[in-house]
Amino acid sequence: MKSTHLQQITTQSSPGHAALYAFIEDDRLREAPTVREITRALDAAAAGTPCLQVLERFLLEKSLYAIPVVNDAGEPQALVDRNMFIEFFAKPYSRELYARWTIGELHRSGDYRGHEAIIVDADSSIEDVARIIIDAGMRHMVTGIIVRAAGRYAGVVSGHDLLNLITQRKQAELFYLSHYDHLTGVPNRVLLADRLSHACLEAERKERRAALLFIDVDRFKKINDSLGHSCGDSLLRTLVGRLRQSARKSDTVARIGGDEFVVLMENLDEAAGAAVVAERILQTMREPVELLGHRLVVTVSIGIAIFPDDGQDISRLLAKADAAMYEAKATGRNTFRVYTDGGAHYDPTRLSLESDLRHAIDNGELRLHFQPQVRIATRQMLGVEALVRWQHPVRGMISPIEFITLAEECGLILRLGEWVLREACRQLREWESSGHGPLRMSVNVSAVQFHQQDFVTVLRTVLDETGVDPNHIELELTESVLMHNVDDVLQTLQEIRALGVSLAIDDFGTGFSSLNYLRRFPINRLKIDQSFVRGIEQTPANASITRAIISMAQSLSLEIVAEGIETGDEKQVLEDLGCEEGQGYYFARPLAASAVLEWLRSVDRTPRR
Ligand code: C2E
Ligand code: MG
Ligand code: MG
Repeated sequence: MKSTHLQQITTQSSPGHAALYAFIEDDRLREAPTVREITRALDAAAAGTPCLQVLERFLLEKSLYAIPVVNDAGEPQALVDRNMFIEFFAKPYSRELYARWTIGELHRSGDYRGHEAIIVDADSSIEDVARIIIDAGMRHMVTGIIVRAAGRYAGVVSGHDLLNLITQRKQAELFYLSHYDHLTGVPNRVLLADRLSHACLEAERKERRAALLFIDVDRFKKINDSLGHSCGDSLLRTLVGRLRQSARKSDTVARIGGDEFVVLMENLDEAAGAAVVAERILQTMREPVELLGHRLVVTVSIGIAIFPDDGQDISRLLAKADAAMYEAKATGRNTFRVYTDGGAHYDPTRLSLESDLRHAIDNGELRLHFQPQVRIATRQMLGVEALVRWQHPVRGMISPIEFITLAEECGLILRLGEWVLREACRQLREWESSGHGPLRMSVNVSAVQFHQQDFVTVLRTVLDETGVDPNHIELELTESVLMHNVDDVLQTLQEIRALGVSLAIDDFGTGFSSLNYLRRFPINRLKIDQSFVRGIEQTPANASITRAIISMAQSLSLEIVAEGIETGDEKQVLEDLGCEEGQGYYFARPLAASAVLEWLRSVDRTPRR
C-alpha cells in the first residue's frame, strides 16, 4: 500500500484532522516561543520560577500536547511538553534520543544551544516516523514530534494520532485483503456473498429482480499450463477488465475461484436484461488477447440464475448459475445458458464433483473395466482396453465422459492417469501370472498427461514397479496430442517405444489426420473411430473412409482395430474390408476384471501374433 507522507498530514486541516494531529497551525506558529523567549524562561526556571509564558499556553489550550520552540528564523529548535520537558535528538531523523531534560536541568547544564530538536521532515513517511516513536520507547506518544518543511517549522504530530492512523490503515488493508481478490482487485467470494444478500433484500423490497452470471473461462487450465502462470495471471486481469466493461456500472464483478467469475446485476426489471449482458460479455471476448507475443482468443461459458425465480438463498442461486454454466460448457462452450427449472441440468452435487474427484482416488472409488479387443473372424481375445469407472458413493457410477474433462481442467488427470496406468499394469500382471496370456493391455492417455514433463519417467516407474512386460502395454493417444510441438512429441514417442511399449491412435479419423505425421511418428496401430463404424453397411461414405484408412494402414504397416462394433452387419462389412481386429458391444461390453478372467478361462485361446 502506498505510504502516506507527513506532508499530507500537516496539510490536512479539516476540523477532525486538526484535532487529530494536535496540529499547531500557522497562527500558532507565529505565537511559538522563540529561543530567546525560552532562554528567558530558562533563566526564570533557574531562579525557581517556571516558564510562565509556556505554562500559560498549556493551561489555556488543553488539547496541546507540546509546544515547539522556534528560532527567530522560524526554524524548529526543541519541543517543550506539558511537564516542562524539552526533548532533543542528537541529530534530526536519528532514532537515538539524545536527551529529555527538564527546563531547569537544561538551564543548569547550560548546554542546550548545540542540540537539535526531535524533528522530522514533512515528507518522511508515516511508517518511518512511527518507527522512530517506537524505537525511542514510545516517549513521544504524548509529546509528539516537530515537523518541518523546507527547514522551517510546519507543525507537530502526536504519536498517538500517528499510530491511530496507521492502525486504521492496517484495518483497511485487512478488510481489503479479506474482501477483494489480490490478483484482479475485484470483490472476492466473501464480499460477493455480502452484496448478493443485500441485493436480494433490495429486490424483494422493490419487487424487482437480481441476476447472477456465473462465468468460467474455457480451457483456462490448458492456457495456464502452456503459457505459464504469470501469463495466466495477466490473462485473468484482462478478462476482468472486459467483464467490467460489459457489465453496468452498478453491477458487481467478482472473482470466486481460479478462473471463475460472477457478475451480480441488481435492480433488474426482467430476466432478459441478464441475457443482454451475457451476450455482450461473449462479444467482448472475441477480441484476441496479446500475451507474450501470442494472440489468443479466449472464450467463456456463462450460466445465469435469477432472484427470486430460481432461489431465495445465495447458495442455491450460485449452484443454479453454476449448473447452467456447466450446461453452457456441455453444449460446446463459448455460450450462455439461463437456468431453467425442471431442466435436467440442475444438480446441486455437481458443484462438489471436483472436490469429490480429489478424494475418489484415495478412497478407492475408481475402478477399471476392460473391454475385449478380438480377432473379428474368430472372436479370440487379443487384448483389452482399460476404461476407467467412478463409483461415486452418492451418485453411483459416473461415466468417464463426464469426469475426464473435469479432471483435465483441474489438473487431477495426472494422478488419475497414473492410477489407471498402474492399476492396468497390475491387473495384466495378475492375469498373466495366473497362467493367462499373453494379452495386450491398452491404456488411454490424456493429452495433458502426455505433455507432462515427466510422463516417460512415470511410465517407466510403473512398468518397473508392476513388473509387467512392456511389450504387452499399448498407449492410446488421440490425434490432437500429436499436433503440437512436433519435435518434442516425436522425442517422447521414441522414448516410449524404446521402453518396448506400443502406441495406438484412438478415435482415428476424427482429428487432424495427416499422412505426414503417420509416417514420421513411431505409431503401431490405428483405432478406427466408432462414428465410421456406425451403420457402415448402409452408409457408403463411412465404408469408403474405412476402406481408405485400412489401405493406408496396410501401406504404412500399421495394425488396425475398429471401435464400437455393435451389430453383426457392421462386423461383416469390416471383415470384408480387411479389418482384422474389432472392439464393441457386439463382442463384449467393458467388463469387470473378474468377468475378463471368466472369459479367459472359458475361451480356448491361441497365440495372438
Ligand atoms: P475411448 O477411448 O474411445 O473408449 C471407447 C468408448 O466407447 C468407451 O466408452 C466404451 O465403453 C465405448 N464403447 C465400446 N464399444 C462400444 C459400442 O459398441 N458402442 C458404443 N456406443 N460405445 C462403445 P467409455 O468407457 O464411456 O469411455 C469414454 C471415453 O473416456 C474413452 O473413449 C476415453 O476417451 C475416455 N476414457 C476412458 N477411460 C479413460 C482413462 O483411463 N484415461 C483417459 N485419459 N481417458 C479415458
Ligand atoms: Mg480409447
Ligand atoms: Mg476411441
